[in-house]
Amino acid sequence: MNQDFCCDDCKNQAELEFKKKNWFYCDFDKEYFENADELTTYHAWNKEEGIYEEKTIRKKVVDLYVDCEILHKHGNEIYDQINELTKLPFGFEAEQEQEVEEETLIAV
Ligand SMILES: [Zn+2]
Repeated sequence: MNQDFCCDDCKNQAELEFKKKNWFYCDFDKEYFENADELTTYHAWNKEEGIYEEKTIRKKVVDLYVDCEILHKHGNEIYDQINELTKLPFGFEAEQEQEVEEETLIAV
């Protein structure tokens, strides 16, 4: 982009439009990145809906955040929030206890 712009606002706006069209959005950083292979996905807990949503994050920060327990690894999957009591992603503890809770679940 070598266009001339009347002011920084217009330049920034044009850059943002360009990135939106051509770059890849990183949900975790709320920024665009040029290469799709810089990004990977993690599961972001949506408390209102009670589901995990797939979001993007930079590959190179995942291990660091897992070490700092900002993110949690379960198998090969990354989660931003887990059940602190069971140390499992939400929903996983129900699967494991399914036999015990089956009657309750059917009743609901
Ligand atoms: Zn302007």
